[in-house]
Amino acid sequence: MSEKLQNIPIAKPWMGEAEAEAASRAIMSGWVTQGPEVAAFELEFATYVGSKHACAVSNCTTALHLALLAVGVKPRDEVITVSHSYIATANSIRYCGALPVFVDIDPQTYNINPALISEAISDRTRAILVVHQIGMPCDLKAILEIAHQHNLPVIEDAACAIGSEILWNGEWEKIGKPHGDIACFSFHPRKIISTGDGGMLTTSNPEWDRQFRLLRQHGMSVADTVRHGAKQVIFESYPILGYNYRMTDIQAAVGREQLKRLPAIVERRRYLAQRYHELLADVEGLQLPTEPDWARSNWQSYAIRLTDKYDQVQVMQQMLDQGIATRRGIMNTHREPAYQKEAWSCGATPKPCNCGAGKCDRLTESEKAQDSCILLPLFHQMTNQDLDRIVEALKNSLIKHD
Ligand SMILES: *Cc1c(COP(=O)(O)O)cnc(C)c1O
Repeated sequence: MSEKLQNIPIAKPWMGEAEAEAASRAIMSGWVTQGPEVAAFELEFATYVGSKHACAVSNCTTALHLALLAVGVKPRDEVITVSHSYIATANSIRYCGALPVFVDIDPQTYNINPALISEAISDRTRAILVVHQIGMPCDLKAILEIAHQHNLPVIEDAACAIGSEILWNGEWEKIGKPHGDIACFSFHPRKIISTGDGGMLTTSNPEWDRQFRLLRQHGMSVADTVRHGAKQVIFESYPILGYNYRMTDIQAAVGREQLKRLPAIVERRRYLAQRYHELLADVEGLQLPTEPDWARSNWQSYAIRLTDKYDQVQVMQQMLDQGIATRRGIMNTHREPAYQKEAWSCGATPKPCNCGAGKCDRLTESEKAQDSCILLPLFHQMTNQDLDRIVEALKNSLIKHD
């Protein structure tokens, strides 16, 4: 037995021979970009989440862009969202020339605080873009009620929430049905299942689904699969400005195999999170994540919050010294140099507000969460021994402080 223990990474995709064979099947078929594998993956994904339509794209950022365009977000419009998210969420709003209006989070769930949404709505608000952060469903019931009062569409950034569930009229339903108007998913390796890169849009609205399909392929009126199979010469046209946001058939073939693994992945992640709960329950100075009784997280990440007693960076460094990778709490977009004050608003008037980048009195819970949380490793292949080792390392790291 080797003396040196292997380092434990923060995450690891679970892939194997089945995915390699699927990629090979697509390559050998002669059709490698958006084609029959993409169509099959869309159908299987729609069936899994229970949505009418699913449209595959190149990643979740492009999915969010198309969702915002479909609901009619235009330059100088405002879109309500959170700063406490991966930067892609707010960036997609700026791609439309619109202004992200950041609402603070609920410190318990790390998701948008529904009680703060109404006051952020103005006559320029065109949509609400909510995030199911690190796989934990946000309070869609409360959010949709406000959205309906103001006649605003709700887009769900479900990048991390594949396989998460929400209790809806007494039934557990998958995120992505969707419960809002459009849900957007990511297949980046840091998420639950992966195609290398990739994204998916789900909706019940056939008109929006048609638009996604046009926009992802340069606005081309005839899909190339249709031209390829045509018995007569047909010419395509380009009625609108589109993009190249296609997923390839190689990626989709891999995604179809990943989808088969998804139930086992979610089950394992929920088991590991439960084990973390049990082993960390008595550790002083930690706030453990909570799951509302109407939500079932896929635990894309397991975030613990340190009390003031401990220094985030020191704890992370001590974990790293013991071979355990961690990450700090979810980033705050408004603190990044790309978000100087013209690029966002915190809902205060006048807009954009005069808060400097880096600090905003209306986003204190978002800032606190970034500065006091630590994400622990959690992935399908992690063993119970790995988890025990992580918990030991964490306890050691906490003891060494006063
Ligand atoms: C990862 C992530 C995205 C971006 O997904 P990509 O597929 O990498 O474009 C968007 N929003 C959230 C909340 C994410 O975690």
